[in-house]
This record gives sequence, structure tokens and C-alpha cells, in this order.
Amino acid sequence: MTAQILDGRTLSTSLREYLRRDTAELAAKHGRAPGLAVILVGEDPASQIYVRNKKKACVDVGIESDAFSQTLPAEISQQHLLGLIAELNADPKVDGILVQMPVPEHIDPEAIIEAIDPGKDVDGFHPYNIGRLTARMPALRSCTPFGCMKLLEQTGIDLHGQEAVIVGASNIVGRPMTMELLLAGATVTVAHKFTRNLQQHIERADIVVAAAGKPGLVKGKWIKPGAIVIDVGINRMDNGKLTGDVEFDKAAERAAWITPVPGGVGPMTITMLLTNTVQAFREHLGDTCE
Ligand code: NAD
Repeated sequence: MTAQILDGRTLSTSLREYLRRDTAELAAKHGRAPGLAVILVGEDPASQIYVRNKKKACVDVGIESDAFSQTLPAEISQQHLLGLIAELNADPKVDGILVQMPVPEHIDPEAIIEAIDPGKDVDGFHPYNIGRLTARMPALRSCTPFGCMKLLEQTGIDLHGQEAVIVGASNIVGRPMTMELLLAGATVTVAHKFTRNLQQHIERADIVVAAAGKPGLVKGKWIKPGAIVIDVGINRMDNGKLTGDVEFDKAAERAAWITPVPGGVGPMTITMLLTNTVQAFREHLGDTCE
């Protein structure tokens, strides 16, 4: 292997240490901790794990989450959920609101995302926040792409003019990642399920961001020597192991930098959720000087 590892766990640990100090100082100054409401609807086992990890991370850095978080039965009506979001929007102790996706089928996820006050949208999914990023005035940034940008920063490479290829065009990863890389001055190509000849695009990429949710979609031999590979994909295999969208071993023989799965983008996503919550807290207190 020649690639250097972009280690999301180590970076997360140091960013969380900084957040812990920042949160303690702000809490002492303003008499309350940042508040994050994590709402889970139903009993999806994967969602239960994600929510547990998010709440644990909050405790770790001094964000109050348990007091505002709720688990609601799967049969809850959309109206009830919207009512809860309205209450949380109005609660001055709540700085961030997160509704764990996916929600049950009878609930419209877009209506839920749009109901959250954009100033409390710490997932960065609200069209207002996506629009701010698109218009080069980022406010609360989508956590996974924001985490990918922090990992890219670790390489020390100037992103201006780099050829970036993003595989996947979802609202939560591919699209905001496109806007992040464009903002950073990269030349961006977005591949998706209708893209013809993915290989040809990948072969000329200085930066590959894989976010399709298809194990092994990006072949190691396609990677341009010296490229940076960010693997967002999380796929659970039949043997229970997690794997990304990139053929890691072969890609690592060619890339200069690569993220592992697990331990790359995953931990960064939660860390950026914490970062966004503290940012929202500062904004709500009018204490935005770093
Ligand atoms: P999604 O299903 O909403 O979107 C997948 C995208 O991939 C779509 O735009 C689709 O057009 C594209 N795609 C599918 N097949 C393709 C192909 N053959 N070639 C090119 N593009 C193709 O998924 P998502 O929510 O964006 O998640 C993508 C992956 O990232 C999943 O594995 C998910 O688990 C993972 N994920 C990880 C994190 C993290 O924190 N690491 C966060 C979010 C999502």
C-alpha cells in the first residue's frame, strides 16, 4: 500500500476535544449548555444505533440532548411530528433539531425537513441551508460533506483547479458535496445512476468521492496515481463486516490518500453534527466570535 490513510477517528478525537473546551467555556459564560433534540420515529434497528451514537457523542462534548430528545411510535401522525417540531423550534433552550431519517412511509420527509427552523437545522438538510451553500454563503452545512471537506483539509493539498468526481447525487451527500467542492475551487463532475462510463470519469479524477452505496463500485485500478479517495459508502456485507464503495486494497496501491471504511467519513459525520450544534448555539446567543 502506498496511500496515506485519512483517519476520521483521530481527526474526530481532536476536533471533539476542541468542542468540549469550547462548549464548557460557552456554558459557563451563558448559563446553559447547547441543546440538541434528536427525534426518532419507530424502531428501525440501524436508526436506533445512529441515534444512540449521536446522543453519546453529545454527552462526550457537553451538549445537552437527553432532556429534549424523544422516541415516538412508528404510527405517530405527520401532524403530531410537525407539532413537536414547532414546539422545539420555539424552545429557546434547543439549538439543534434532528429527525433521524428514514421516517416511516406515511410521513413526508421533505415536509419534516422544511418544518425545522433553518437556524436549528444542524443536519444541514433544509433547502435554506443547501441554498446558502449553493450561493457561496454557507450557514449550517450538511454534516457528511462538511466532514469530507475537513478530511480533505488534512492532506494540505490546494483544491483549486483539482478535478473532482463525485459518485452519487443524493440530497444528503452527493449534491451538497458538489457545492462544497465547487466552493473550494475544484472542477466538479457528478456521476449518478444514469452516468455512462463511470470508469472514464474516475480515471481522470484528482479527487474521488464515492457515495453510491454500492460495495466495490469504484475499481482500484481506475484510480489515477496520486489521487485522493474519499469513500462515503457504508455497506454491510453478508459476513457482517462494513465496506465502502471503493475497492480499498487496490485503490490504496495507487492513491496518495484514502479514507478507510469504517473509521474514515463515518466518525466525521457525527463530529460535524456536534460542530453545527455548537455553531447554532453561538448564533442563538449572539456569541459568534471564535
Ligand atoms: P442514496 O441511495 O440516496 O443515493 C445514492 C446515489 O448513488 C444516487 O444519486 C444514485 O444515482 C447513485 N448511484 C447509484 N448507483 C450508481 C452507479 N452504478 N454509478 C454511479 N452512481 C450511482 O444514498 P446516500 O444516502 O447518498 O448514501 C450513499 C452511501 O453513503 C450509502 O452507502 C450510505 O450508507 C453512505 N452514507 C454514509 C454516511 C457517513 O457518515 N459515512 C452518511 C450518509 C450516507
